[in-house]
Amino acid sequence: VIMSPSMTFQPVLERIAGEIERMPGRGRAADYIPALAACDPRRFGMAVAELDGTVYGVGDWRQPFSTQSITKVFTLALDLAREGDELWEHVGREPSGNPFNSLVQLEYESGIPRNPFINAGALVVTDRLQTRTGDAAGELLAFLRAESGNPSLDFDKEVAASESAHGDRNAALAHFMKSYGNIDNEVPVLLDQYFRQCSVMASCADLALAAGFLARHGSRADGSRLLTLTQAKQVNAVMLTCGTYDAAGEFAYRVGLPGKSGVGGGIIAIVPGRCTLAVWSPGLDERGNSVAGVAALDRFTTLTGVSVF
Ligand code: GLU
Repeated sequence: VIMSPSMTFQPVLERIAGEIERMPGRGRAADYIPALAACDPRRFGMAVAELDGTVYGVGDWRQPFSTQSITKVFTLALDLAREGDELWEHVGREPSGNPFNSLVQLEYESGIPRNPFINAGALVVTDRLQTRTGDAAGELLAFLRAESGNPSLDFDKEVAASESAHGDRNAALAHFMKSYGNIDNEVPVLLDQYFRQCSVMASCADLALAAGFLARHGSRADGSRLLTLTQAKQVNAVMLTCGTYDAAGEFAYRVGLPGKSGVGGGIIAIVPGRCTLAVWSPGLDERGNSVAGVAALDRFTTLTGVSVF
């Protein structure tokens, strides 16, 4: 089924949902905090938002879930919009090939994390956004609410508290980078912002709309510009090469779109100039990507012929 201009996305989504329903293995929900471990891996939702804000969806596409690392895309964009290229002196843009919470490369690279989507890099981005705004997580939430048109989007206090209770690795990363002078705020202040950021609850519909600026080459829902054309291209490129943990090569191979996943089982993907996708299913593979989510995006680009390649 190659997409013709007169077709809508709805029949494609319904076909994919039917196929996912029959999929045998769904992976396992993340179990490092109780709020995620309690999620049923069989749940599945998917939404597509067109550039004008028209949204199509199937399954649990209106169900809020824990967005986790998907928020790293938005804090990156919000900080890049403020400080421009100076950001890239503090965080790189190369895939790491190591797990998302790894410390190993930091010592060899003088406290400059490989990319903004591993935890070390996301901590640097949040730190810089915090310095510029005084409330990085609040800035993120306001942006997500505005772009999704959903004023009820919020943090989940229980998830944020659990992240904090299991936050030793992130604390270690932050302290280690601070010893190199690459973290500006006090570590407890930064961690509080970062854990709240990770705790944002949003649905596939919310996320597909909120990521729309990346498909519109940097323009927000109201037509104002968040990013320059070049910056929007940069964020999409970093998503393609670094957005799905240490499986970005496999994701590019199967799906062929810039994407960012989170351990809550969500994934967003961008078709520049065309639409944004968001999918959720809590069962993860061993690298931390949603099993049904990757499969659904794979089917979407295969059935529609819509991809960046
Ligand atoms: N809150 C998680 C952490 O920092 C984010 C994990 C993720 O979605 O990659 O460990």
